[in-house]
Amino acid sequence: MFDEPSVYDVLGIGFGPSNLSLAIALHEMGDVEGRPLAARFFEQQPSFGWHRNMLLPSAKMQVSFLKDLVTFRNPHSRFTFVSYLHEMNRLARFINNCDFFPTREEFHGYLEWAAANFADQVTYGATITSISVPPDSGPGDPIDRVRVNLASGPTGAESSSVEARNVVLGTGLVPRFPAGLTSDDRVWHSSEFLGKFQRCDTTKLKRVLVVGGGQSAAEIAHFVYDNVPGVTVTAVIPSYGYSIADATPFANRVFDPSAIDDYYYGDENSKDAFWRYHRNTNYAVVDSNLISDLNRKAYDEAVTGETRLRFAELSRLSGVRRRDDGVVVSIHSMLSNRTSEVDADIVICATGYEPMEIGDMLGPLDRFCIRDEQGRYRVERDYRLATTEHLRCGIYLQGGMEHTHGLSSSLLSNLAVRNGDISTSVARRAQSQSHDDGRVLQGLVPTGS
Ligand code: NAP
Repeated sequence: MFDEPSVYDVLGIGFGPSNLSLAIALHEMGDVEGRPLAARFFEQQPSFGWHRNMLLPSAKMQVSFLKDLVTFRNPHSRFTFVSYLHEMNRLARFINNCDFFPTREEFHGYLEWAAANFADQVTYGATITSISVPPDSGPGDPIDRVRVNLASGPTGAESSSVEARNVVLGTGLVPRFPAGLTSDDRVWHSSEFLGKFQRCDTTKLKRVLVVGGGQSAAEIAHFVYDNVPGVTVTAVIPSYGYSIADATPFANRVFDPSAIDDYYYGDENSKDAFWRYHRNTNYAVVDSNLISDLNRKAYDEAVTGETRLRFAELSRLSGVRRRDDGVVVSIHSMLSNRTSEVDADIVICATGYEPMEIGDMLGPLDRFCIRDEQGRYRVERDYRLATTEHLRCGIYLQGGMEHTHGLSSSLLSNLAVRNGDISTSVARRAQSQSHDDGRVLQGLVPTGS
């Protein structure tokens, strides 16, 4: 690790697809003021991984392969999905599939392939413990560097710190549980699914509850039904039935790069309309093929008289009680306005995610960040947190800016362009700082020398 803190131009916290896309954008930018920008990334996981616990065998991407790490910013990049296919000798066969949507497993292979090219810039197994102001910075000095403190090593006991002029927060989403619930051996979140499923004795699973009406819930219900012989799967769905993800061409335009500007520069009414009319392109909705598959299974059961796939519609999980041999789940039905109890071996909460929480991480820097009337962070168009004059270094967001940049801002669809914006912003600021420094230095040169 780092014995001496070095000043990096960019320090990325987290190394998932977002900061990977940034690493590529910085690499492809070339020299700024005569040298490449120095970037370093820290990732908590021991190796590259993207939603590994949802890499269900047949699950497919819901965005086109062209919405990869780079294409929308630079279709000539050597890190396109097409370039990956070419290197894997699968390009012709992929095209013969006539399908824009690879499996998640294949896309994960692509991400790993791209990440391997930047291994020398990434420290895996490193946790950010805090961000602070460098100790040599006086109380009234403008803050143009931040110090990032880290824990790493096999036991997490090694501490070190690094300084940087810009920090890019890309730690991803935080799993959301229904109120009062936390993860344990019988209550799982969808983000833990495959790992826990593979470790559990599935021969003992007889009753599984899957909570939620989104893609994760539908994929897990489908997977458990198919892969655990004799199991009964009860789907607790807040709507009357799974609803379709609107992937039709006009609605899909909410994911176009230009929609970010429309949202960002729109007023409160237009922002509200984006959410009201187009939330169903992404949240609490399910791919149409999967809905058909699940419905087919339910219908086949109606024919055979089997009842292994059950639906609690217009219902929400309201509590879980432990028993020695399982859990008792309270389900509130909005149809009857009653709460009933159901026994289960495990409950899988496919109940979505919260945006990343950055306040704790920012620590003493948080007070320099400007907030709006509702207490939310103000974010510049280039994804930089708006700060007071005093904080000169850049803190950029890869998530948590849906209120300023819209519903697609942190999604894969916007990945390549977002990181073009961030890398360009970092470069512009590096140039202007270097010119400012030049003026200061010139001012110090004695006249006549
Ligand atoms: P989501 O879309 O946010 O859905 C969460 C669901 O949980 C909602 O239906 C929500 O209903 C429900 N819920 C929350 N609390 C509940 C409770 N107490 N009882 C019953 N239901 C409750 O989350 P997700 O399905 O994990 O999807 C997140 C993102 O990942 C989406 O963009 C999705 O497309 C993506 N994804 C992609 C793939 C793929 O590419 N194959 C697979 C999985 C997920 P309310 O909204 O009414 O609270």
